[in-house]
Amino acid sequence: MSDSFRALLVSRDENKVQSVGLVDMTEADLMEGDVTVAVEATTVNYKDGLAITGKAPVVRRWPLIPGIDFAGTVTQSSHPDWKAGDKVVLNGWGVGETHHGAYAGRARVKGDWLVRLPDGMSAKDAMAVGTAGYTAMLCVMALERHGIVPARGPVVVTGAAGGVGSVAIAILAKLGYRVIASTGRVSETEYLKSLGAADIIDREELAQPAKALGKERWAGGIDAVGSHTLANVLSMTSYGGAVAACGLAGGMDLATSVAPFILRGVSLLGIDSVMAPREIREEAWKRIGSDLDTGKLSSISTTIGFDGIEQAARDIVEGKIRGRVVVEM
Ligand code: NDP
Repeated sequence: MSDSFRALLVSRDENKVQSVGLVDMTEADLMEGDVTVAVEATTVNYKDGLAITGKAPVVRRWPLIPGIDFAGTVTQSSHPDWKAGDKVVLNGWGVGETHHGAYAGRARVKGDWLVRLPDGMSAKDAMAVGTAGYTAMLCVMALERHGIVPARGPVVVTGAAGGVGSVAIAILAKLGYRVIASTGRVSETEYLKSLGAADIIDREELAQPAKALGKERWAGGIDAVGSHTLANVLSMTSYGGAVAACGLAGGMDLATSVAPFILRGVSLLGIDSVMAPREIREEAWKRIGSDLDTGKLSSISTTIGFDGIEQAARDIVEGKIRGRVVVEM
């Protein structure tokens, strides 16, 4: 009989009314998997906010421990790649959606879902990056594959003061890109500049229905917002440029025209972190180890305790969180 640990559990009653509570569990309560991990740090992403508040159908199995990201140490493994003592990170794969997730002292998962923590990176640093930061890196890699190098021109980042946005700015700036940060929180100008943004624009500039083509303002974009914002980013992307779309913080719709694609050769690059193949994750985490200034992680992240997860979940869906939230277990 293993020791008990605390877990956050979301349940729903016969009327499908959702509730959240702290419970004690043992390893016998966890789901199937070939690796058990002692969770040392986790985080609250926008998606976790949606799961805990029930504002979107993220949780699809009940009751469930939410939490889509964790970092920790392997305690038991029957998977050939992992042994007790290995430091690992997990992002996505349905963890915190259909498989018990990160908001517990222990997690049992498939070894194929795990990535080795980059050398020198702590569990806390990895969670300051989290799915949001790893997705920001996937976006940067997609722009690079499309040939968007710093010499091509600036890159706009929307939802700039959020998790994806903050990490994207820090990575792009370190790689030498000129970054234009679009934010609704102009009060965060100093913060965004400290991450490496060269110019700050008010997100209202991109919030109205887009013209078919606008003035060419950037060679590339990383968009966490969707809706009119993404449509405007596309219509203002210069000839041959590309936009990596990863988010829907402003809406899931996309009212655009084909003009940017057929008249300017602009490409829209879709980014999914959840089911991204293992080789791409390994590459992204390797790049995070080399191309993200870990010194910036402390200004990007706020640390909370396990008891603060629910409040942080409410705050993130209301757009009140700056950067990233790290949960120390
Ligand atoms: P955050 O809440 O940390 O950041 C989102 C930011 O978007 C906010 O900080 C705010 O930035 C801006 N924003 C919020 N509401 C609106 C609005 N109504 N209109 C315009 N801008 C708005 O979330 P994350 O950074 O963690 O995630 C960002 C998005 O990316 C989410 O939609 C998330 O679901 C998605 N995502 C997708 C992934 C994938 O695999 N494709 C993986 C990870 C995240 P500011 O205050 O600067 O304006």
